[in-house]
Amino acid sequence: MSIQSIDPRTGDKFGPIFAPTTASEADQIIGAAARSFEVWSNTPGAERAKILIAIADALDANVEPLADMADRETGLGKVRLTGEVARTTFQIRSFATALLNGKFISPQLDAAVDAPLPQGHPKFMRTHRGIGPVAVFGASNFPFAFSVFGGDTASALAAGCSVVIKAHHAHPQTSLLTYEIALQALTDAGGPTGLIGLGHGHDFGRAIILDSRMRAGAFTGSRGGGRALFDMAQSREIPIPFYGELGSVNPVVVTESGLSDVKVFVGAYLDSLLMGNGQFCTNPSLLFVPENTGFLQEVKSQLAERDALPLLTEVTKTLHDKNRGILVESTGAIIYEGKVAPAIGFFSSPQVLATSAKGILANPRQIDIECFGPTGVVITYSNMTELQGVLRELEGALVGCLFSAPSDFSAPSLLNTLATMCGRVVFNAWPTGVAVTGGQHHGGPYPAATSPLHTSVGIQAITRFLRPVTFQGVPDELFRATTLEQLPT
Ligand code: NAP
Repeated sequence: MSIQSIDPRTGDKFGPIFAPTTASEADQIIGAAARSFEVWSNTPGAERAKILIAIADALDANVEPLADMADRETGLGKVRLTGEVARTTFQIRSFATALLNGKFISPQLDAAVDAPLPQGHPKFMRTHRGIGPVAVFGASNFPFAFSVFGGDTASALAAGCSVVIKAHHAHPQTSLLTYEIALQALTDAGGPTGLIGLGHGHDFGRAIILDSRMRAGAFTGSRGGGRALFDMAQSREIPIPFYGELGSVNPVVVTESGLSDVKVFVGAYLDSLLMGNGQFCTNPSLLFVPENTGFLQEVKSQLAERDALPLLTEVTKTLHDKNRGILVESTGAIIYEGKVAPAIGFFSSPQVLATSAKGILANPRQIDIECFGPTGVVITYSNMTELQGVLRELEGALVGCLFSAPSDFSAPSLLNTLATMCGRVVFNAWPTGVAVTGGQHHGGPYPAATSPLHTSVGIQAITRFLRPVTFQGVPDELFRATTLEQLPT
């Protein structure tokens, strides 16, 4: 199947046709990545950092054409996409800074202890090596920050790994442009040939997970796709780590003490829900509010003024509309709707579905169905037993929020409930917008992520691609000759 850009605002195809990468082309790309890994993993951290910074500078210098192309292919809007390029280059520079500071790559010394067992032991030097060539799957909803040179690629390169990227078919031209800019900057800065490879098509995705030279996978996308690739990674003769971020139905809990100005609160809720036309894995999918607060009346009037926008692809629209239908049927929800969607392209009108905790508990059914797009579910509750009863049935999620006064008697137990099921717990703020920083955790219990132990955002994301190695009893001089790393002082 050939791949071509489609304008989600019209449904029209445009630009060049991309043939799927053939098996022999995939073999060459993977071979080059495996060879360059030998060079790159032995390149000092400061040199890797210099090359990463050169790539970030080149992407920043091309923000206009990058954002223009991504806007045509995704319909996400020029302002959002310009900001996403800035976030992407900030992310790359953050990993470069970590390398320059020796973070994650400096060995940890455990000095010899001259004593009888169990206290006594020889000297240990615990260090890290890049795991090997990494397969990266570009995401449909973040054409920069989670795509060709997004956090997965930047963190893998920082760790000393080479990278083979599968472009997402939703934005093939943006993927190619990003790749060409990054490759030119990498080559100009003296980086090894073959360090980053790019390919297209479903079979290429399978090949880069199944090939024995590939040593890890990183993915952002659907639960079905991520789980299929995870299973493939585990089915190999030599299984490999596969870090999938599989989307999420995120709970947001509001207590009476957290709801002061309903009008302002509803405006902020709709802004968060409809950011990126709802195509964020962190959007406030399930909102729990106390009964009889006037919340739903306010949703009804404010939502009526919100525009219908296009979804990323025809498949995204089809899945979104289908899952919304399933939710409406299973919950019997009342539907509040935004402006009518035009009957072209991949538009869908925004909706909020309202149901009650009482009704859900009386007739248990699945409510955590991901509607990836402009759909939110509001669940009203009359007491803490009802609220906790519904929360306890939810699956693992990327993020959960609590809006409450800090002194509210229910706040500690609600924060605890959210912490058992979510990777990030937010107090008195909305879940959308994931800061790139050391304290960040973007992951969570399955099905939010295939590894509940790792994050795909923030500096700690590098640990996914660093394999620990301990050198025991190796003299300093020999250790120095073996690695390029600085000995701890
Ligand atoms: P997807 O279908 O999971 O695809 C993501 C990437 O993985 C694509 O490049 C796809 O290649 C590849 N892939 C999936 N299954 C594969 C398999 N069995 N073998 C080889 N490659 C495979 O996700 P999507 O296309 O981005 O969107 C579909 C749905 O995913 C959305 O409607 C939404 O529900 C969800 N989604 C979630 C997130 C999130 O934040 N976690 C982000 C985006 C989308 P091909 O396209 O070539 O098959």
